[in-house]
Amino acid sequence: HPPFDVHAIRRDFPILQERVNGRQLVWFDNAATTHKPQSVIDRISYFYTHENSNIHRAAHELAARATDAYEGARERVQRFINAPDVNEVIFVRGTTEAINLVAKSWGAQHIGEGDEIIVSHLEHHANIVPWQQLATAKGARLRVMPVDDSGQILLDEYRQLLNARTKLVAVTQVSNALGTVTPIKEIVALARRAGVRTLVDGAQSISHMRVDVQELGADFFVFSGHKVFGPTGIGVVWGKREVLEDMPPWQGGGNMIADVTFEKTVFQPIPNKFEAGTGNIADAVGLGAAIDYVNRVGIDNIACYEHQLLEYGTEQLKRINGVRLIGTAADKASVMSFVLAGHSTEEVGRALNDEGVAVRTGHHCAQPILRRFGVETTVRPSLAFYNTHDEIDRLTTVIRRLAGQR
Ligand code: PMP
Repeated sequence: HPPFDVHAIRRDFPILQERVNGRQLVWFDNAATTHKPQSVIDRISYFYTHENSNIHRAAHELAARATDAYEGARERVQRFINAPDVNEVIFVRGTTEAINLVAKSWGAQHIGEGDEIIVSHLEHHANIVPWQQLATAKGARLRVMPVDDSGQILLDEYRQLLNARTKLVAVTQVSNALGTVTPIKEIVALARRAGVRTLVDGAQSISHMRVDVQELGADFFVFSGHKVFGPTGIGVVWGKREVLEDMPPWQGGGNMIADVTFEKTVFQPIPNKFEAGTGNIADAVGLGAAIDYVNRVGIDNIACYEHQLLEYGTEQLKRINGVRLIGTAADKASVMSFVLAGHSTEEVGRALNDEGVAVRTGHHCAQPILRRFGVETTVRPSLAFYNTHDEIDRLTTVIRRLAGQR
């Protein structure tokens, strides 16, 4: 699409033509899930029409096609995040399963009594609960990097938390509740200097900025396909080869074995060691098509356009009396979380829905960070590159009316 043409892009997403309560849909719930371009919908349909088969096992034409399509998707992921080795890309159901895989496999092996795991106050429940479960099972301790009043991580406080008992730092690149872009490179670098492994939750960053896992330097990077214009039910664990090779499988079954007797099983090398059973082949292929689409638009064009949109939306919201923005860090992506004085977040959400504007209201699976700001829920419009300035005006018109302003 060069140069960036949002109206051309919008024509690629059929659902954006949908009418809701008599109005054209405005989709501002991109942090929850993103919509799919026609090319992704078509690719999945093509798979089931022409390629559908289980992979790896049968020696027939469709098995070969399905395997090629699936492994082609793995290569697309590899290039998209600049992973050095395609076998470091493991397909899972999503970010939640990805983090659970690392906790159940790497965590069970490396976390012991008295050890410490550091997360940030910003984390989604998916990057809290698995570590808490692990810590409880092992007698380890979960520690929390605090944030300042803008919702940005306090690096000095984090530095103080790192110590000889720290075994893992697990932190998000972008907060789904506030939109904070964390200083992830510094966070990882400090951990590495202390000899501590790192996991980066990329669920919210992957669709908004260029991700280069080699530049990040983390041991694990995880994300969900559905947040980057791909299908649900597919996601990725990327891990450093030597780290993954050293980890035990977390699930056993077909696909992941080299040889099985009743006495003993020899596992496949990575990535198959971590992909027990029949995977989500079609949706992996769909994710590959989503990556192709993003590459055609250009992730840097996307980041630049979205930044303008976020600044515009933030400015418009700030002008409305009674709006309190939660999360005002200098570096943000996509999310404008707020509350409106005198109105519950549910009320605001309903009023927006009545006008065809979809936002999430609630705790956004990140209760600790909302409570840090003294609220239980917020209204959370979240942007993607197919959104427009006009759509932001439709949102702020409703909020202004609720606030009793014109
Ligand atoms: N981490 C973050 C930062 C998220 O935004 C989300 C999704 N809201 C998740 C993890 C969980 O992703 P999923 O539900 O796709 O597993």
